[in-house]
Amino acid sequence: MSYLANNYNRKKISFRNGKGSYLYTSKGIKYLDFVQGIAVNCLGHAHPKLVKTIKNQSKKLWHVSNAFQIPEGEKLAKKLCKKTFADSVIFQNSGTEATEAAIKVARRYFYSIGKPFKNRILCIKNSFHGRTIAAIFASGSKKMTEGFGPKVSGFDHFIFGNHKSLKKKINKNTAAIMVEPIMGEGGIKEIPDWCLRELRKLCNKKKILLILDEVQCGISRSGDFFAFEKSRIKPDIVPIAKGIGGGFPLGAVLMNKKVATRVTPGTHGSTFGGNPLAMSIGNTIMDEVSSKKFLRNVKSLSKYFLFRLNKLKKKYPKIIKDIRGRGLLIGIQLYKDQSKFIEKLIDNKLLTIRAAENVIRILPPLNVKKKELNQSLNILEKVCKELN
Ligand SMILES: *Cc1c(COP(=O)(O)O)cnc(C)c1O
Repeated sequence: MSYLANNYNRKKISFRNGKGSYLYTSKGIKYLDFVQGIAVNCLGHAHPKLVKTIKNQSKKLWHVSNAFQIPEGEKLAKKLCKKTFADSVIFQNSGTEATEAAIKVARRYFYSIGKPFKNRILCIKNSFHGRTIAAIFASGSKKMTEGFGPKVSGFDHFIFGNHKSLKKKINKNTAAIMVEPIMGEGGIKEIPDWCLRELRKLCNKKKILLILDEVQCGISRSGDFFAFEKSRIKPDIVPIAKGIGGGFPLGAVLMNKKVATRVTPGTHGSTFGGNPLAMSIGNTIMDEVSSKKFLRNVKSLSKYFLFRLNKLKKKYPKIIKDIRGRGLLIGIQLYKDQSKFIEKLIDNKLLTIRAAENVIRILPPLNVKKKELNQSLNILEKVCKELN
């Protein structure tokens, strides 16, 4: 009997400690962790630099109100802006708060320029932007919104890949289009570069804002610091979370100057958002994962891993339908439901997680070792053989 509510279908397995790519149960059984808290622990478990950061900062200062200056936050915001399209940052504590803040700053922008009627956000049908009341209705998923009415209005939806339905849904009330460059929960589905470029052009033409949700695919996960960078476009607003805290709850919304100048005192806030402890960790993460050298390594590991996975697909064409993804945000799409496959991987001490469309999501830490990738490939092959 558990006193935890039943909102998760939890696996009957728990861990006592972790190191790098591995998790250990209380009996010392070792698992290769290619979930990493769903793309959160970008440096794996108990990274020495993060342990040191949290130790040092915890002796100095954990939390002060945003009523005061927070130098650690100034520093992290500067790093994020210097590295990206952004001119300004608001810190939050999670992904869904970051997407909510993105929606708020987009609406506030149009309100401030005297066009308050432009307040609708256009999203992909059955996308994922988090679990708050607004974010579930942004996703337009029946499963996520069922029983949580009244419906939050202000969101329209188009079908992934259907450009006609996208253009048809833009009207005089549209404020922004919000999409994930690579849909994580949605099954590691990428928006091609040419599509992102067309999206940017469309937003320019219609004078609306482009919000790119990089909560899952951002912070070097794709092999670029942001997944959209490969397309060479610049969005207006980007919510981030997951990787930026390396396991500590941290989110943010990044925005360009045009949007940022409309954010005035009192328009948004958060008690915990941007506190010194979170900021010190974010600073260490940025120092570790945003360098060219680090990104080059993610790309090279990815190239090797995808090559080997595609070979596996060729060997087991009746099981594996598609290998998807970029960087270390990878999906193996099966022909059948993936649950049994995932269970068998766990039996063989490899942890992965499901996504939509029968996809097994593989999210190694970004500093994973090649031999750990090889270990996972051996287990994947073993399970393919068993289920063939
Ligand atoms: C995980 C995720 C969120 C929500 O993040 P939480 O921290 O769980 O609130 C939002 N958008 C995307 C794309 C995500 O992957």
